[in-house]
Amino acid sequence: MKCVFCGRDLVKSYETIERRVKGKLYYVKNVPADACKLCGEVYIDDEIVSKVGKMLEGLKQNQSTGSEVVDFKDLNNDLGTSVSNFAVI
Ligand SMILES: [Zn+2]
Repeated sequence: MKCVFCGRDLVKSYETIERRVKGKLYYVKNVPADACKLCGEVYIDDEIVSKVGKMLEGLKQNQSTGSEVVDFKDLNNDLGTSVSNFAVI
């Protein structure tokens, strides 16, 4: 896969993304992504983004506002084996 902006080959990386779920802002660390080292563009699979959204919706919330930092790997663990292979993409 190549960067659509500059054409450079993408490298695997882990990024922090923001998702707002039920009014609360989550920062999700260590999301598997492809990044361009030249221009800094980051590509995250739509499937992974929607998985993250579903995982966040399934979280027990201590509070309904504000923000929280979560780790993609922890979210994976909470859901058991069904999405565990995302960690090795
Ligand atoms: Zn690029």
